Amino acid sequence: MSGRPWTRKDEIALAYLGPRIGGVACAEAFDRSHDAIKHKAHALGIRLRRKSLGTSITPCNSPRVAQRLVEIAMAPLCPACAKYPATHRKTGLCEVCHWRALIAEHELEIAKVEAQRKLWAARSKLYRLRQAEPMPATALELEAVES
Ligand SMILES: [Zn+2]
Repeated sequence: MSGRPWTRKDEIALAYLGPRIGGVACAEAFDRSHDAIKHKAHALGIRLRRKSLGTSITPCNSPRVAQRLVEIAMAPLCPACAKYPATHRKTGLCEVCHWRALIAEHELEIAKVEAQRKLWAARSKLYRLRQAEPMPATALELEAVES
């Protein structure tokens, strides 16, 4: 009565999740029978959490959350930090690196705006100085025209 074969990733995920969410929740997450989970856990020497979250009122109760946990457990490591699972679908980074990248992007935008403001201020100052003190050559030319 062996069902789908277990992949190495499944086993890693079970080793990660079993002690955390228990057999019933794992059965939901892996879409396997509770007996299959218990059997595999025993074969691998994994201790399943006693009070399975599948029977208690916690956020892990939902199969969707359990499925997400499996995804996290099976995700490859983030290519940027190699510390956390690369679970962000768009960037392929971990959540931490994803937010850091967003922060860096915003800081770049802020720096650009600040540089533009300084440029504008410098231009205005130059314009005012030119208005207040015309170039001597220009002043002489004006005198020549007026006389
Ligand atoms: Zn990362």
